[in-house]
Amino acid sequence: MSRLPTHRRILVVDDNPEIHADFRKILAPQAASSTLQALEAQIFGDAAPAPEEPYELDFAFQGQEALASVREARTAGRPFALAFVDMRMPPGWDGLETIERLWEVDQDLQVVICTAYTERSREEISARTGRTHRLVILKKPFETVEIAQLACAMTEKWLASRLAALKMNHLEEAVRLRTAEIADANDRLREQVEKLEALGLALEASEQRYALAARGANDALWDWDLDTDRIYYSERWAALLGISPGDLGDRPGAWLSRIHPNDAEAFRQARADHLAGSADHLESEHRVRDAAGAYRWVLCRGMAVRDASGRARRMAGSASDISRRKETEDQLRHGAYYDRLTGLPNRTLLKECLETAIRERAGAGTRFALMFLDFDRFKVVNDSLGHLAGDQLLVALAARLAQCAQQKRPARDHTIARLGGDEFVILLRTVQGEPEAADFAAAVHGACDALIPVQGTDVHISASIGIALDDGAYASPDEVLRDADTAMYHAKSRGRSRDSFFTAAMRESAIARLQVETDLRRAIQCAEIAVVYQPIICLRTGRIQSVEALARWTHPALGPIGPERFIPIAEETGLIVPLGEHVLRTACRDLRSLRARDPGLAELRVNVNVSSRQFALPALVDAVSSAIADAGLDPHALALEVTESTIMDDFAAAAATVRCLREHGVDMYMDDFGTGYSSLSCLKSLPLTGLKLDRSFVAQLASSVAIPAIIHAVVTLASHLRLRVVAEGVETRDQLASLLALDCDHGQGYLFGRPMPVAQLNEWIATADPQRLAA
Ligand code: C2E
Ligand code: CA
Ligand code: CA
Repeated sequence: MSRLPTHRRILVVDDNPEIHADFRKILAPQAASSTLQALEAQIFGDAAPAPEEPYELDFAFQGQEALASVREARTAGRPFALAFVDMRMPPGWDGLETIERLWEVDQDLQVVICTAYTERSREEISARTGRTHRLVILKKPFETVEIAQLACAMTEKWLASRLAALKMNHLEEAVRLRTAEIADANDRLREQVEKLEALGLALEASEQRYALAARGANDALWDWDLDTDRIYYSERWAALLGISPGDLGDRPGAWLSRIHPNDAEAFRQARADHLAGSADHLESEHRVRDAAGAYRWVLCRGMAVRDASGRARRMAGSASDISRRKETEDQLRHGAYYDRLTGLPNRTLLKECLETAIRERAGAGTRFALMFLDFDRFKVVNDSLGHLAGDQLLVALAARLAQCAQQKRPARDHTIARLGGDEFVILLRTVQGEPEAADFAAAVHGACDALIPVQGTDVHISASIGIALDDGAYASPDEVLRDADTAMYHAKSRGRSRDSFFTAAMRESAIARLQVETDLRRAIQCAEIAVVYQPIICLRTGRIQSVEALARWTHPALGPIGPERFIPIAEETGLIVPLGEHVLRTACRDLRSLRARDPGLAELRVNVNVSSRQFALPALVDAVSSAIADAGLDPHALALEVTESTIMDDFAAAAATVRCLREHGVDMYMDDFGTGYSSLSCLKSLPLTGLKLDRSFVAQLASSVAIPAIIHAVVTLASHLRLRVVAEGVETRDQLASLLALDCDHGQGYLFGRPMPVAQLNEWIATADPQRLAA
């Protein structure tokens, strides 16, 4: 910032040195004599005040010289205030040009131009310089006083304008500074405002978010002042309880008094635990009664606000309606624990009941009983009438069981469950002993033993029941179920509508059975299964007509295991399929080698047993054909034996298979004839080769008068139908004689020969005497 000048510099520009002297005299009085001063005071009077500061005078003869002085003065920071410029200054610039040049370097310079009337007119001068306050025209010849007054006034004006400019500068600077300060403050303020705004917005957003979340989660909020026992409820509470917001009040009772009595204690405890600090928050699922009196499930969460000493002063949290979820949970629970078809408990729930029974019996000193039910011939109903009928039957049976149990025992004492298929179990929680359980089983048999209408057909069904009576040793539900199941199998093996109590012996045989099953798998792979052959004799001629192939198993550790033990297991496990194929192929090969060795045996045939499981396989016909072809036999060499029950279980399908095999040239026999319940009329529609009369008939020939008549009827019917009859189990000559008398044509039994390995059979054939065998 420039300083305020205090000097008054004046430049006199004139080509005449005398003029320079005149100016010095007028404007630098200190340089003049005191007399002169006195004189001048006289001249000027008081009206011409001496300047407080003396003028500093400089002189130039030419415009150029003046310009240099003015430039130099400005650069030095001591500019001239005023210049007296002569109009005519030959040979250089004239006054006007000089002034123009001077103003180029110093715009503030005040100028007095000294001119004679003859030189330039005022108009002419103004036209050159423009109208300006910086210029005064002084006409020559000038007066001393004029010079003094002009010098004084114009330097004064120069100073004043310097001062004004300076003040203006100061002012501007001050304004600039102030403005900057204000702008600065403004910036800070704006920043703060922005920050506050952002905070405000965030707060508002978070409030909105919270409100939305609370609304979205269907949460009711609460804030409980523990000191005053006043509580704030959000409006959601009203909706939750179905009351108007005004009725909520500010007392905890509005909530607590509505909690279901069964849930109140748990809630109180959860709250106490949190307040005591043993739970880090309060969480409770409980029911609250709404205005309509119905209970709704709420999930309540909360947290205490504690003071410095740790004492809870307030507690706040939320409550959300979880009735829907609870409902779904109930449904899921129901689905997980109940059988969909009958509505009875399922295996999972039964196991839980059993677990409880096992746990509670110890303290109570009671015993429980588990009954395992399996309906006999249920599969036949299912297959013949269809699954829908089967389902209807199961529903009807479930109802009967429930009704029966209700009549016999209090509801709390029993549970009926369906395990799947036609397997049901009944758990009796308190039973004195076997007689009581047997009595209940008898009632169940009675309940089932009635015709049940199913899709227009009356179905008769019976149940096999296995009973496991708790002996205090059962540790798990699976053990109980396993034993009842084993007993049920035992009951089934004794015929229909039976019940059996589980015994240790059953467990042992069940274990043995399991062992057999495991070993049988290996036996089939390792060819431990051999095939033996038993002759079938034409009773009239005594000649061997065929041999029946029978499977034998010699267990490496247990020795020989009879087919009556392993065939049923093979049937159940499906192992019968590879086993049967092994017997079939072996039999065909052995027959081929027998025939090859003895031309007399060209007509010898082989009978192979086919189980029901094999018989139902669509691949059976192919397996049979390829076994025959591989052995190089003709189909007539082979006969298959199928039991009566196999055929009767699904008569239509069996008949088709029999027909198909017969068309391939294979003979077909109905095995164990007489033990099943086939109607004789069925035989007409089956293209069989013959019947094998069950051993039990032959065994009773001597003891029962009815048997010979039955055999005679069978033989007569068979001959009408062109069926052969093979009597099984011929052990004595008397039996042989009776059979011959009854016109039975073929026989098989120990009397003729036991089942034997093929090598032995060779020998047997070689030594057999048809004469002796026949008569
Ligand atoms: P099955 O088909 O009725 O076979 C006749 C059974 O009676 C044979 O018993 C045979 O040894 C026996 N037997 C023969 N003559 C007499 C006799 O005079 N008195 C007595 N008490 N019994 C006699 P095995 O060999 O123990 O076979 C029992 C059952 O095992 C057979 O009954 C058959 O159903 C089944 N089986 C045997 N081998 C096979 C096979 O390879 N496949 C199939 N699916 N079942 C077979
Ligand atoms: Ca047989
Ligand atoms: Ca038989």
